[in-house]
Amino acid sequence: MKFTEFGLDDSLIESIAATGYEEATPIQEKVIPIILKGHDLIASAQTGTGKTAAFLLPIIQRLLQHSNDGQVNGMVIVPTRELAIQISQNLEGMSYFTSISSIAIYGGNDGMNFSTEKQALSRGVDLVICTPGRMIAHLNMGYAKLDGLQFLVLDEADRMLDMGFHDDIMRIIGKLPAKRQTLLFSATMPEKIRQLSRKILHQPEEVNIAISKPPDKIVQEAYVVYDSQKQPMLEHILTNTQCKMILIFCSSKQNVKHLARDLKRAKFKIAEIHSDLEQNNREEVLMQFKSGRTPILVATDILSRGIDIDNIDLVINYDVPHDGEDYIHRIGRTARAESDGVAITFVNEKDQNRFAVIEQLLGSPVRKAMVPTELGPVPDYKPRARRGGGGGKFKNGKRQGGYHHHKGKSQKPHKPQQPQQPKQ
Ligand code: AMP
Repeated sequence: MKFTEFGLDDSLIESIAATGYEEATPIQEKVIPIILKGHDLIASAQTGTGKTAAFLLPIIQRLLQHSNDGQVNGMVIVPTRELAIQISQNLEGMSYFTSISSIAIYGGNDGMNFSTEKQALSRGVDLVICTPGRMIAHLNMGYAKLDGLQFLVLDEADRMLDMGFHDDIMRIIGKLPAKRQTLLFSATMPEKIRQLSRKILHQPEEVNIAISKPPDKIVQEAYVVYDSQKQPMLEHILTNTQCKMILIFCSSKQNVKHLARDLKRAKFKIAEIHSDLEQNNREEVLMQFKSGRTPILVATDILSRGIDIDNIDLVINYDVPHDGEDYIHRIGRTARAESDGVAITFVNEKDQNRFAVIEQLLGSPVRKAMVPTELGPVPDYKPRARRGGGGGKFKNGKRQGGYHHHKGKSQKPHKPQQPQQPKQ
């Protein structure tokens, strides 16, 4: 789903585009409409799913429609200063072309920022991203203008409770207006989170985005290539592999048809499967594949879920899947039961950003494999940055938000051993 379909303000759409997001992630698709309608929410979602934008975007949208001047309009409470900084950087990117003001308030900076924070809380600011302890320190002095607060978000609520912040959170909430929209995000949903939600949420909607990690025994690799190198790269792999059952995924049935045609021309023994085939043809194709008569199957995502074929030893993503969930489902077709498996993804220049998001969800970068020298030079792996950066901008205040890109975060530098190794 495109961000333009949510009915967001032009300035917000412009900021989203500048941040580099193109399509909403599954959690954003579910959560944004709920928040825009004004419902309370309890959502289970891990870091890496795009949950931050899922709550920030609709809150920014609603603040653009109505913000109380001279007041703190929204508060996001998080467990750590790192997360406060990260969310506030995200927020700066997403609100860059809007009039939304924000500030991150967290401990551990030796009180250096205390007077700036005090100023923002007493003069008013659209959104405060804070850790509980530091917020309480300010609230105890009584200058924070909280009567107009409309939004409260608890992010990583399970972690906050594990860190012993329950009472601090309740103290902060005690100072907020009862009529507000409250959103609770948590990676897990133990009973103590349910109890907390019963205390602070009002008839919440519930959203679950559970993402399982792929089994460790799947060896994952990616080839960073130009689009024109995908086909020769694939033929190279198919010619040299020992694998006996190979499943190749493309992102559309058009791509499946083209690739299947080209591979047939190159004399590979392949079959194709997609939604244009009649059900009985599909079954026939699957039978042939399972029995080993056709060792290579080119498929759309029609085959990424729930299909039980046990012996696939190689999955190739000819196109990068739409999101992390699709990636995990696709590569989960290999290494089933007792067997091991390999999952290879071709990443062209256009898909680098999407692949970087998938890597974030996986929690570590996928190893970039060498492209054979005869295929020529390959592009660098330089996914565009996703977080806006630095500082904070206050209503009525002097400081204006900055915006810069953090290149290739989470990617460890990788020493090239051959000229074809993509730089990370
Ligand atoms: P989060 O789960 O909020 O920590 O987000 C994980 C990463 O995905 C962050 O680097 C975000 O900037 C990025 N991200 C969030 N939403 C999108 C999107 N719709 N498209 C691309 N990247 C995104």
